[in-house]
Parts: sequence; structure tokens; C-alpha cells
Amino acid sequence: MAKGEPGTTRRNSRNVTGWDRGDLECWQARTVDQVKACVDRARREGRALYPISTGLNWGYGSATPPRDGAVLLDLSGMNRILNAGQISEANPVAVIEPGVTQRQLHEFLSQFCPRLSFNVTGSSVDTSILGNALDRGVGYLGPRRDDVFGLEVVTGRGVLLKTGFRRLGEDSPLAHAHPYGLGPMLDGLFFQGNYGVVTSACLKLLPRPERSVAVSLALRDVSNLGAFLDGLALLKRLGVMGGVNHVGNRARTRASMMSGVSEYLGISCGVADADLAAEADRALATVAPYEWTSLGGVAGSAAQVRAAIAEVRRVLGGMAKLTVVDDAKLAAGFRLLNPLRNIWPWARANAAAISAIRPLQGLADGRPTDAAITNLLWRYGQPQAAGRELDESRCGLIFINPALPMDGAAVVDVVDGMKAVAAGFGHELYITLNIETTTSLVAVANLLFDRGDAAAVANAQACARGLWEYLRGRGLEVYRARADMMESVVDPQDPFWRTVWELKSVFDPDNLIAPGRYNLAQAPV
Ligand SMILES: Cc1cc2nc3c(=O)[nH]c(=O)nc-3n(C[C@H](O)[C@H](O)[C@H](O)COP(=O)(O)OP(=O)(O)OC[C@H]3O[C@@H](n4cnc5c(N)ncnc54)[C@H](O)[C@@H]3O)c2cc1C
Repeated sequence: MAKGEPGTTRRNSRNVTGWDRGDLECWQARTVDQVKACVDRARREGRALYPISTGLNWGYGSATPPRDGAVLLDLSGMNRILNAGQISEANPVAVIEPGVTQRQLHEFLSQFCPRLSFNVTGSSVDTSILGNALDRGVGYLGPRRDDVFGLEVVTGRGVLLKTGFRRLGEDSPLAHAHPYGLGPMLDGLFFQGNYGVVTSACLKLLPRPERSVAVSLALRDVSNLGAFLDGLALLKRLGVMGGVNHVGNRARTRASMMSGVSEYLGISCGVADADLAAEADRALATVAPYEWTSLGGVAGSAAQVRAAIAEVRRVLGGMAKLTVVDDAKLAAGFRLLNPLRNIWPWARANAAAISAIRPLQGLADGRPTDAAITNLLWRYGQPQAAGRELDESRCGLIFINPALPMDGAAVVDVVDGMKAVAAGFGHELYITLNIETTTSLVAVANLLFDRGDAAAVANAQACARGLWEYLRGRGLEVYRARADMMESVVDPQDPFWRTVWELKSVFDPDNLIAPGRYNLAQAPV
């Protein structure tokens, strides 16, 4: 390899969905010039490129391209915060490269701008911010797509394109300030777009509020789920709970807390391994007995938070048990209950729950955690593995996440239908209903299975297919697609997908960038 040339290696595409393309050639670019060189080389050699930021797109295919023959373009080494010296409370924008991870930006802000934070996802600390946003991922405060503007892209033609006012040059006072630019907004083309390789973008940072609390609402009567969702929708539209409220079913809530609860019971209470599962079940039945529980953040001045909680209570207090927690309250609760753990089962269950919840509590405040991934690793017998090793574990996980209208009764109907399809395959669905926009929500639904068991893998994949067919039969669609489902999702007869294909001729006429991803793989007949 010549000096300054991108490195070449191989990367295994085995991943939690159970669909993969084996060992792949992988080019590692560390600079914009190297990205250009990779695009030129791909054209010369007639190869396709599949760009990844950190490649941890778990449940959607990780670093597996939808079509055979692509070379991975690994951008994790492009991990600079390009305007690091200029970020401040008065200038809350970070210009980041694709390899910048949640951990990295969190640590940077904690050290240099502790009054600022950003919209974090519930995935690993080692996941990227840009790759996630480009696949239209969702953070605790809203869709990541809304946080990002001013893209720098190497298109499939090898042209360096800057969107918005970044086209005026990095020194323009508008470059990192005004998100819309002038003229057509091209940014949107590069989210689930695959017309180029994004090499950097502006990310909006957020001021830390004076006070921030988590509000949990446990729905008392499951038959009120539709009205409950409508109430949360109202609170979202009024701006009372402006972030994403997560309404989890019991399977999800318990799965999220299981490893933390078991760890506490094992380490702090000395419960023997053989008794752990049963004891953890009992503890969770005590602290999380409800079928549906929502968790959302309320932030602002102390007076704003008080007023918002009063409004939440007014709208939903009649049908749900409301609990408000913050770091201080959780710490005080733990101090009180932990010493009583061996004499009072209720105190033990609640202390265990607090120790499980604590890391998750920070998400709405911009503190990323590996807790959700550790949970999965724990469940599949590798509690000590690093979060980023999830694809190497036995954990099998497939997402099937429909966008849904903000209509409680309609959502209940679809969720019941999805649960029935999953049950037909012997699967329990882990579901969170995310109140994501003021007009729609997204159901994050996943299957869990043991990837060491070939029959279980085949069954889960068939179940995922059945769930998607069910959704399409209802006139619905996923908001984000797995690599394995691209061919089904993209219909060559649909004028929308034909237009999406025609745009390839503008930006990527040789179809070099991620062929078949959210696009037709070849010209339609
Ligand atoms: C337990 C668990 C919890 C999760 N929680 C969340 C969550 O809260 N929110 C959420 O959104 N996801 C979540 N995920 C899914 C996933 O792990 C994250 O979305 C993760 O951030 C995606 O991986 P990544 O950041 O490495 O992106 P990558 O895998 O690097 O990128 C995703 C895709 O975007 C495209 N892409 C990436 N970089 C570029 C580029 N520079 N130019 C052009 N195209 C590019 C590629 O096609 C790539 O496949 C979760 C997964 C699990 C297992």
C-alpha cells in the first residue's frame, strides 16, 4: 500500500440478523481524498462500495450490503470533530466526520463544553452519530435526521458536493449556522439515499436544561392503550413532552431490566446462579407488573418542569400510575432500600430495579450507555463481552419497525395483529411504541433468538417476513429497512422507486454506491 493510500483489510459480515455475505474486502479511508480515491478505484475496477461509519447497524444487517460483490468502505477512522475549537454555548454546532461515536462526542462535550449535550440513541456508546442519522435512526429526543444539516459528500461521480450554506466555504459565517441554505435542499437525498459517501456534516448540539426528569406512566388497564397513546400524542403536540415518549410492553420492559436486576441480585444479595432467573422474575413482577409503561423526559426551568408534570397528571393521571425520577431521587432511593435488601423483599426488588434503571435514566440527558447491548450479551451468556462485539455473540435480533399514524385505536389494532403473526411462529414480540412526531409514531419491534440454533434462525427470518407481509397488507410500511429486505421493499413498478433510480444517473451513474440499498439494484425494464 502506497503512503496516503486507503488501507485494505477483510471484515466478517456475520451479524445478529443471521443474514450475511461472509468475509468481505474492506477499504479503510481516513481522509476525504482517500474517499475520492476509493470511489475512483471502484469505478476503474467495476466494483461497488458499501460505506459504513461504524457498521454497528444491529438488527438491520450491520455491515452487510444488500447485494453481493460490494467492497466495504470503512469510515470509522475518519473520526475528527472538525470545528472542535469553535464549539460553545453560543455556537452549538459540531462539524463531525462519520467515525465520530456517541462516546467520543459525549466525552468531548463533558470535558470542553459541559453545558452542551446532544440527542443520543439507546444503542452502544461505540455507534456513530452520522451513520445512524443517515439511516434515519432515532434518538431519545427525536429523529436524528432533524439534528443534521450541511453535508459534505463525495458523490458516486467522485464530485465533492457541499449542501446548504457549506457550499460558501467553511469560513463563511453561514456555513455551520443556517440549516436550510438557498434553493432546493439536497440534504434529504443522502438520508437512506446512497448517492454518495457522506464525509462530514453539521450536528446541532443542545443546551443542558436547568432541570430534567424522567416521567414514567404505567397503564393500569390494558384496554385503555388506545386512549393512553392519544393522550401522549396530545402532550407531544402541546410540547409538554417534546422528546420521544417510549411506550414499552412488558416483554420489552423486563428484557431491558433483566441483566441489571440479576446482576444486583447476584452480586449485592448473593443469590445463587441457579436461583437467579426465578428471583429476578419475582422482583420484576413486583416493580413492573403492568403490560404497558411509558418513559419520557421533561426538561426546562424548575417551574416549567413542575407545570409540565401537572399537565401530564391532568391528561393521563386517571388511567396511569405516574412516577417522576431524576438522578438524585434514584440515588436517594437506592441509599434507603439497599441496606434493607436482605430483610424486606419489596425493598430488594426496588433496589434491584433502581440499579437496572440508572444507566438508562441518563439517555434523555445525553449520556449514552451500553446498557441495552450488555443486556443482550448477558441474555446470550456473554456478560463480559464488549458492546461492540454483539455481532460475534449468539444473540439473534431482527427489527421490523413500522411507521404508524398517530391514532391510538389504529395502533392497538396493528400491534395486536403483529403479536398474532409472531405468536404463529412461537415468538414473543418486544415492542416499544415511540411517540416520534406530532403526526405519527414508530413501533420498534424485534424478535430475539439464539443464533447458535439454525432452526431458530430460519424460523425468526420467516417470522420477520410474515410480519412485513402483514404490515404491507394493512397499507403500512417500515420506517427503516434491513439489508435483507431491500429487494422486497423496493418495487420497480412504483413511480416513486423509478424516480429514486433516475436520480442515480445524476449523482452516481455507474451505480457504485451501495447498489440496491433503498433503491433498485439495476435499471427497471
Ligand atoms: C439494543 C439495541 C438498541 C438500539 N437502539 C437504537 C436507537 O435507540 N436508535 C436507533 O436509531 N438505532 C438503535 N439501534 C440500531 C443500531 O445499532 C443503531 O442505529 C446504530 O447507530 C447504527 O449503526 P452505526 O451507527 O454503526 O451506523 P452504520 O452501520 O455505520 O451506518 C448505517 C448505514 O448508513 C449508511 N451509511 C453509514 N455511513 C455512511 C456515510 N458516511 N455515507 C453514506 N452512507 C452511510 C450505510 O448504508 C450503513 O449501512 C439499536 C440496536 C440495538 C441492538
